[in-house]
Amino acid sequence: MSRFFSGRYAALTPYTPGEQPQDQVYTKLNTNESPFPPSQAVLEWASANTRSLNLYSDPEGTELRAALAELLEVEPENLILTNGSDEVLNLAFMAFCDEAHPAAFPDITYGFYPVFAALNRIPYVQIPLRADFSIAPEDYCDVSKTIFLANPNAPTGLLLTPEQIEPILRSNPDSVVVVDEAYIDFGGRSCIPLIRKHKNLLVTRTFSKSRSLAGGRLGFGVADAALIRDLNTLRYSTNPYNVNSLTLALGLALVRDEDTVQANCRAIMEVRTETTRALEARGFTVLPSSANFVFAKTPKMEGAALYQALKAKGVLVRHFDSPRIRDFNRITIGTREQMQVLFQALDDILGGTP
Ligand code: PMP
Repeated sequence: MSRFFSGRYAALTPYTPGEQPQDQVYTKLNTNESPFPPSQAVLEWASANTRSLNLYSDPEGTELRAALAELLEVEPENLILTNGSDEVLNLAFMAFCDEAHPAAFPDITYGFYPVFAALNRIPYVQIPLRADFSIAPEDYCDVSKTIFLANPNAPTGLLLTPEQIEPILRSNPDSVVVVDEAYIDFGGRSCIPLIRKHKNLLVTRTFSKSRSLAGGRLGFGVADAALIRDLNTLRYSTNPYNVNSLTLALGLALVRDEDTVQANCRAIMEVRTETTRALEARGFTVLPSSANFVFAKTPKMEGAALYQALKAKGVLVRHFDSPRIRDFNRITIGTREQMQVLFQALDDILGGTP
């Protein structure tokens, strides 16, 4: 830390992103990216339709918001586009939390929530998951705090239905409830239709997972227009050109390529089922996942040791050194071929084939 760094941030522990090592080519199953790059047609269409790069990007993202609004059956005024969904989440912490409105989220969830809270000096409570790692919706009813729920949750992959989330919205009418749907396209039902009925609901989404655009950094929020206006007040006060014009064009091309997006999601869900079976056949416990990853542990080896052994064999998974989940590793669902590389490595490390 330099002597110039503000004392306000002296105690801040930043978020640790998943490794993106450049030292060798890994079978990369650690950051929940899509194994399928955007199609050639998407890349060509986007490069032909990128607004001239000497001009600033459209701060309203007009075309992309219109196309997304149609796809999601909402109005453009219900949408805000951001630089990844991390940005809309940070804006939500800034906009809807303070000393009088602390944040609440599960003890095991997306690791950026406590960082955003600390960055913005927002008090927060962490509500324990049940013993089976599920979220107990009743724990979030009548809490009068700004609630952040990843659905499906990460890194567990467990899903709530909109019917389970609705009582949370209803019982906290004076607090915003943020439902982070980064992984909803892999088998979950979205809460977006509830924004009409519940003015306190903000749904966040990303193009990083199901839409193959992690490197393009595109996320969005969906909510009643009044909440979107609040988020835009802060966006225009920090970075109005937060989404660059190449990414806006890519986003639009991907919305038009929705059939491919859905086919990719189906393929990932199929490989998820196969992966779960293959891991269970090797003695792993695998939580039932509705995301593009599985959370799994083996009685044969500690989580950290298995992570290290896989890395030494060129397979990257994600290990979290936190209480309750230390035995587990989070494994992104890749292509069938990538998963075969994982299984071979597991058999080499743990011994024997099933
Ligand atoms: N929410 C959850 C639950 C995530 O796992 C991630 C990915 N790290 C994000 C949000 C943010 O993703 P992005 O900024 O790429 O949209």
